[in-house]
Amino acid sequence: MELKITCIPGDGIGPEIVAEAKKILNAVAAKFGHDMQYTDILMGGASIDVHGVPLTDEAVETARSADAVLMGSIGGDTTTSPWYKLAPNLRPEAGLLAIRKALNLFANLRPAVLYEELAGACPLKTEISEKGFDMLIMRELTGGLYFGERRTTEENGVRKAVDTLTYDENEIRRIAIKGFDIARKRKKKVTSVDKANVLDSSRLWRAVVEEVAKDYPDVTLEHMLVDNCAMQLVKDPAQFDVILTENMFGDILSDEASMVTGSIGMLASASLNDSKFGLYEPSHGSAPDIAGKDLANPIATILSASMMLRYSFDLDKEADAIDNAVKQTLKDGYRTGDIMSEGCEQVGCKKMGDLIVERIKS
Ligand code: NAD
Repeated sequence: MELKITCIPGDGIGPEIVAEAKKILNAVAAKFGHDMQYTDILMGGASIDVHGVPLTDEAVETARSADAVLMGSIGGDTTTSPWYKLAPNLRPEAGLLAIRKALNLFANLRPAVLYEELAGACPLKTEISEKGFDMLIMRELTGGLYFGERRTTEENGVRKAVDTLTYDENEIRRIAIKGFDIARKRKKKVTSVDKANVLDSSRLWRAVVEEVAKDYPDVTLEHMLVDNCAMQLVKDPAQFDVILTENMFGDILSDEASMVTGSIGMLASASLNDSKFGLYEPSHGSAPDIAGKDLANPIATILSASMMLRYSFDLDKEADAIDNAVKQTLKDGYRTGDIMSEGCEQVGCKKMGDLIVERIKS
């Protein structure tokens, strides 16, 4: 298969971790007979330095013409970098918001996996963490409270602010379809999270999800109120497979789920549009404090590349090869500094990439 991938190395540790992910993709391509072609574009601070803006139209067009986009991370030290003296619409993050909008990426996927080997990093009680967990939060990314009308007014000296939470059934249906499709590739369970006991938008959400579920008789659907879900994530995270939810609930729950894994350098993410196209990136930032020192953990980006193979290209065997090689490398006792524990061997970013490549080849 010929795969055209646009890469956004970005800023900070971005170029280091993307280089390792490319190494892994090349090893998979060689093993399974694929042809990966990469085109790099600038975004964030790297683009500001060259073009004066965080994202150019040409860069967007290059991304649009690819089959998928693999990103490192963007941004610098927000207190010392000159990028943060610019107007907000010219800062690095504006590039990320602009590309998400230009590519119509409405579905955000964030897996939260507790690896057996890293169970010690989990802040939960041992009797909970020893069961492990492997869930994926599917968050609607372009609607809801963050995109509704808002205003602040003052009446008789009293300030008042209004935000509106709006969804139409088409916005709900397209994310629900993504959620069920992805559950079919996993443990076939969807937990749809809402606040249907209070909000009209949640009642519509629930009704549309029920309608979509009829086309997926092989997938189990359950509904959960958001406040209960927040509790269940720390009480019994092993019960979840796919959590399907709207924008703000997903924003909060996905951060909570990441934190219970205890290892930010391990967490992948993807944002998809209504075709197979997606932008894949680690959940963490550009870690300017360790940039250029070969200290970064490349695994979140490597697992993002694995998600790209699985969800944009339907290459499940190839994605499994990456996921298994990562697990084996951890099992063999290798760790980057951020996930280091007693009795393990600490390695740098490049060495971690090499160790994973070795295990893909074997
Ligand atoms: P961060 O995630 O970059 O770093 C937080 C801490 O985690 C730091 O100590 C860092 O060294 C460590 N860390 C992060 N990723 C790591 C990895 N792969 N390996 C080892 N250690 C790792 O968050 P921050 O410091 O709040 O933000 C730094 C910059 O990143 C800011 O400019 C911020 O806006 C940007 N940011 C970008 C994205 C993105 O590109 N999507 C996301 C979040 C933050």
